[in-house]
Amino acid sequence: MSQEHFGMKIAVYPGSFDPVTNGHLDIIRRSAKVFDKLIVAVLNNTSKNPLFTVEERTELLQKVTSDLPNVEIDSFRDLLINYMKDKNAHLIVRGLRAVSDFEYELQMASTNQKLDENIETFFMTSTPMYSYLSSSIVKEVARFHGPVGDLVPVEVEKALHRKYART
Ligand code: ADP
Repeated sequence: MSQEHFGMKIAVYPGSFDPVTNGHLDIIRRSAKVFDKLIVAVLNNTSKNPLFTVEERTELLQKVTSDLPNVEIDSFRDLLINYMKDKNAHLIVRGLRAVSDFEYELQMASTNQKLDENIETFFMTSTPMYSYLSSSIVKEVARFHGPVGDLVPVEVEKALHRKYART
């Protein structure tokens, strides 16, 4: 593959981000230093029954990354590689927490590469303090009004309080 094929290094960090956690934010901050541009792409996946709408998830991501000039927030509902073609991006970033993430991530990375040989997936290992942090754990704690201040940015903490106050 030719060098110039990659040109500007645009990476896509896809995920549900329901909601964004400090673990996601850590991956975003660290990978924004490595790539020229990072597009955080919220998957509009109706089958997952999310707590936050795509608009809410996007808005929260925008708020917590507003200090990062080369990070863009977007959403997609298409197959990831088709979305990436539209964005002229060839690099995928994913976070790896524990061994449990590995098999699924390997499956996705090899599938994406089979679908488009120009796609490369980069894995960033989680900062140890966030290795056991997931959006589902955060929701579980917040649902029972437990403290999530160490797990998510303050904007997300407020949004969780609002969600669970209403229901
Ligand atoms: P998905 O539904 O695609 O797994 P998530 O929002 O749960 O979406 O996660 C998006 C990406 O962020 C995945 O690569 C996941 O492994 C990674 N990730 C999630 N939580 C953390 C964390 N605490 N530390 C590092 N990476 C994480």
